[in-house]
Amino acid sequence: MDTVLLKGKAVAGEIRQDVARRAAALPFDPALAIVLVGDDPASAYYSASIERAATKVGVATRLVELEASEGTERVASSIRDLSRDASVHGIIVQQPLPDGILQQVVEEVAAEKDVDCATTYSLGLLMTGRETFAPCTALAVLEMLHGHDIALPGKHVVIVGRSTVVGKPLANLLLRKSERGNATVTVCHTGTSDLALHTRQADILVAAMGRPGGIRGDMVSEGVVVIDVGVNQIDDPESEKGYRLVGDVAFDEMTGLASAVTPVPGGVGTLTTALLLRGVVVAAESAAAR
Ligand code: NAP
Repeated sequence: MDTVLLKGKAVAGEIRQDVARRAAALPFDPALAIVLVGDDPASAYYSASIERAATKVGVATRLVELEASEGTERVASSIRDLSRDASVHGIIVQQPLPDGILQQVVEEVAAEKDVDCATTYSLGLLMTGRETFAPCTALAVLEMLHGHDIALPGKHVVIVGRSTVVGKPLANLLLRKSERGNATVTVCHTGTSDLALHTRQADILVAAMGRPGGIRGDMVSEGVVVIDVGVNQIDDPESEKGYRLVGDVAFDEMTGLASAVTPVPGGVGTLTTALLLRGVVVAAESAAAR
């Protein structure tokens, strides 16, 4: 079987074009505040890459850097200020928060600015189908399928991973009674007794486990569409950096077996920032209409 490589680049390019066009049509610059607490290198890297991508599509960014030692109340009050600031349209609080800063601070993000759908309130809206924003990674999976004309209605989608940022919101989105949903969904996790029994039944398999090689060739059926959400850093002495990024799926084992597979890097991750910025423009459009 020929295995199609589902790259994110072209799909992300279309989203970015749409964002740039809509940003330019606004009477003011749409703006995203990025709240970075502590010194997590991955969060700092992700913040910088959001800033670069935002500049290219006409979205302004404001990086708010706070020390972990400033404490929960100081972080919460900064986020509250951003929520009240009319010149800010979207807010993302980088995760994971450092030890000592309570997760509760995220709840200070105003609903109309919660572009990564991080608060309990926003997740509740998502659950009931009344949301404005969805978690960008979960949304990226849908956009990847849609962008490659892979239909969902009637399909059996097996998701491996039940996190609040990926697995659970994605399951909710896939269950929608709509053309972009209407799938039958199975969600697996570490308590699943026979993972392969479930993954072999998938028409579409989404791996969001955070385990390199978590999905092997003998765990899938011929013709499956494999969406690899995982981003894992593994040692690689031959690479310049000493490491490389891999997904959760044993990619080489999918060739000739899966009908389509996303690469890592270059797959789902390519879309997430573009979708975050689309959320900022949506929020800014709403602000302009108020
Ligand atoms: P997470 O919070 O650690 O959740 C991982 C989930 O996978 C958990 O539900 C866990 O089950 C399940 N799991 C782990 N090992 C398993 C196994 N052997 N069998 C069955 N289930 C297993 O991770 P996350 O934040 O959802 O992220 C998942 C992956 O996506 C990571 O590699 C992360 O780097 C990547 N990610 C990528 C993007 C992107 O933009 N591309 C964004 C976010 C995350 P339990 O609940 O039972 O522990």
